[in-house]
Amino acid sequence: MSTRRIFLKRVGLSTLALGIPMAETLKAMENTKEDKVLRVAIMGLGSYGTRVADAMKDCKRAKLVGVVSGTPSKITDWQSKYDIPAKNCYNYENFDQIKDNPDIDIVYMTTPNSLHKPHCLRIAAAGKHVISEKPMALNAAEGREMVAACKKAGVHLMVGYRMHFELKTLEVVRMQRAGELGKTLFFQGLSGFIIGDPTQWRLDPALAGGGAMMDIGVYSINGARYMLGEEPTWITAQEVKNDPVKFKEGVDETITFQMGFPSGAVASCLSTYSLNNLDKFFLNGTKGFAEMQPSTGYGPIKAWTNKGPIEREHVTHQTVQMDEMAAIILDGKKPMIPVDGEEGLKDLVIVDAIYEAVKTGQKVTLS
Ligand code: NAD
Repeated sequence: MSTRRIFLKRVGLSTLALGIPMAETLKAMENTKEDKVLRVAIMGLGSYGTRVADAMKDCKRAKLVGVVSGTPSKITDWQSKYDIPAKNCYNYENFDQIKDNPDIDIVYMTTPNSLHKPHCLRIAAAGKHVISEKPMALNAAEGREMVAACKKAGVHLMVGYRMHFELKTLEVVRMQRAGELGKTLFFQGLSGFIIGDPTQWRLDPALAGGGAMMDIGVYSINGARYMLGEEPTWITAQEVKNDPVKFKEGVDETITFQMGFPSGAVASCLSTYSLNNLDKFFLNGTKGFAEMQPSTGYGPIKAWTNKGPIEREHVTHQTVQMDEMAAIILDGKKPMIPVDGEEGLKDLVIVDAIYEAVKTGQKVTLS
C-alpha cells in the first residue's frame, strides 16, 4: 500500500472515530502543506536583488529571511526595510557559516555572472539550495561543475527563469505542444537594449563573461528552446561591432545567430546592446502563429495568435517565480518548463557554441 493510501486510511479511521468529515480533514491537511514556507537569503543586494525582495513581499510560499552582502550599510538598510534578523546576515567572507543556520533554506544569487559558480559551490557545500540568476555561469564547463556540486550535496539548483511561470508564455507553449499551431518550423527571437554607463560590470568581461549575449541574448536562446520544445543540433552566428571602445575585446555588442532543430525547425535570433524596444518572440507553424511583444520584459507581456489576443492576468513575475520555486522544493511540484540546473546548462552549451561559431565563422554541430 502506498504511503498516501496508508495515511488516508489512518486519517479516515481517526476522523471517523472523531466524527470529522473526511473532506474537512483533507482540506486541513492541504493547508498544513501549504503553510510550509521557503526561507530565502538574497546574495548581492543590487538592482535585481531589490526587485526580487520587493516582489517576495506578496509571496505566499516564499519569505525573505536573510542576506549576503559585502556592504555593511546595505545590510542594515535591508534589515530595517525587510525585517531581517542580525543572525541571518552574512558577508562574502563568512557566508559558509550559513550551514549552521537552520532558519535559511536557500540562497538566491543576484550577483554579477562570474560570481555564480564559485558562490554556488560554497552554498551547496553548506547544504543549502541555490537559485542562480541568469546566465547560470560563464560557460558550460562551469555550469557542469555547479550541477555536479549541487547533486553531490543533495540540494536543488535552479535558475531565475521567471518567464517559465508567466501565464501568456505558458499558453503559447501549451498551444505549441498541443499542435494548435500545426508543425512549428520557425522561431524568431529579438533581444536587446541600449546599455548605459560604460564602467558597469556588464561591460567587464571578467565579471560578465561576454556582452549582450550573456545578459539579454540568453532570453532568445532560452525562448527558442521552450517555444519549439526541442534542443538545437547546429548553430551559426555572426558578430557586428560598431563601437569597439565601449564594447572592448571579449564584450559582444551585437550577434545574430541561427539554430537548427531535429524536427527541421529553424530559429533566427538577434542579441544586442545597441537597440532599445527590442523584445520580441515570433513562432510560426503550418496552422498558425503566435507573437509576443514584449516577450521577456517585466511585463505586462503582450501575446496574440492568428486567432486573436491571448488574455491572462499579469502578476509580478518574481512573485510567481518564488512561490512556484517554493512549491518545487517543498512539494516536489514539476513546472511545465523546467528551471533546474540542467536547464541552465543547456543554455550555456548554446552560448559556448554561438561564441565558437562567431570566432571560427563555422557552423557548430551539437550532439
Ligand atoms: P547590480 O550591479 O545591480 O547588482 C549586483 C550586486 O552584486 C550589487 O549589489 C553588487 O554590490 C554585488 N556584488 C558582489 N560582488 C561584486 C563584485 N565583485 N563586483 C560587482 N558587484 C558585486 O546587477 P543586477 O542588475 O542586479 O544583476 C545581477 C544578476 O541578476 C546578473 O546575473 C543579471 O544577469 C541578473 N539579472 C536578471 C534579471 C532577470 O530578469 N532575471 C534582471 C536583471 C538582472
